[in-house]
Amino acid sequence: MLNVKNLIFSYNKTPVLKDLTFKVVQGENLAIIGESGSGKSTLLKLLYGEYDLNFGNIHWKDIEILGPKHNLVVGPDFMKYVAQEFELMPFISVEENIGKFLSNFFPKEKKQRTAELLEVVELTAFAKTKVKTLSGGQKQRVALARALAKQPEIILLDEPFSHIDNFKKQSLRRSVFKYLKNKNITCIVATHDNNDVLGFANKMMLLNNNQIEAYDTPEALYQNPKTSLVASFFGEFNIINDKIIYANQLKLVKNSNLKATVITSYFRGNSYLIEADLNGNSVFFENDLHIKKDELVYLKASD
Ligand code: ADP
Ligand code: MG
Repeated sequence: MLNVKNLIFSYNKTPVLKDLTFKVVQGENLAIIGESGSGKSTLLKLLYGEYDLNFGNIHWKDIEILGPKHNLVVGPDFMKYVAQEFELMPFISVEENIGKFLSNFFPKEKKQRTAELLEVVELTAFAKTKVKTLSGGQKQRVALARALAKQPEIILLDEPFSHIDNFKKQSLRRSVFKYLKNKNITCIVATHDNNDVLGFANKMMLLNNNQIEAYDTPEALYQNPKTSLVASFFGEFNIINDKIIYANQLKLVKNSNLKATVITSYFRGNSYLIEADLNGNSVFFENDLHIKKDELVYLKASD
């Protein structure tokens, strides 16, 4: 269990994180979400012991994670951290980068382990390629594999798929998160991409105004978004009569007291997102078909 209690931190005078208290069960996947600058990367760095806290404490099981004032080497050995700006050794191959942290005393095991990790990050074909010739996304995958090499108890990932193209992203996410679950590795991932979260995270933490604005399962937060920032993470939404209603919960009906005029239809693949004017405000709803501009529609929120 990771146990964070009353954590307060600031780089200078203004606090970046104010009084954070939360727990992460071993083997769970926690997603830390929030707008840019909300403190996601800072929190990961604090969990890794990169800075000293102003107040509070962090424990993994019964070990306290302490900052540089107390440690010569940053980062406890049961933990791995993949930073937003990852550093690799450019002049050696992908497989050498991954193997760098594995013991040479067990060459057969080292080879097997490297092959397994190459598969997890889908880079088997690039094993012998020098890292400097790889794309940004490929380098990010090498950094991931390297962090996994020594099988940490807990891994901290900062926007781990941000450089990876959309064609590869989804299968890579599945592969990496499945691997972590199978090995019971606790994973804390900072992201602003809901695809990194939905289907993978056991819990979600939303940082806003230097605090935890929400902390629960993704399902619970989706079903009962207490603030519009929570709702915005899941997609387009409306506030109608003080209630948050997602675009996919608003349906076309023959008649209702919500009468709107269509402004634009945005193609979304399996449906259209329709923007319409409702009493001078934009409302968004999903529809199977395109709707012409200026058409009058009646809308109803489904339960
Ligand atoms: P996020 O990862 O959510 O985008 P960060 O943790 O990077 O947010 O940043 C949180 C806040 O801390 C921002 O206001 C940022 O400008 C500030 N900050 C980040 N790193 C430093 C630093 N090394 N020194 C001073 N301020 C910093
Ligand atoms: Mg960041």
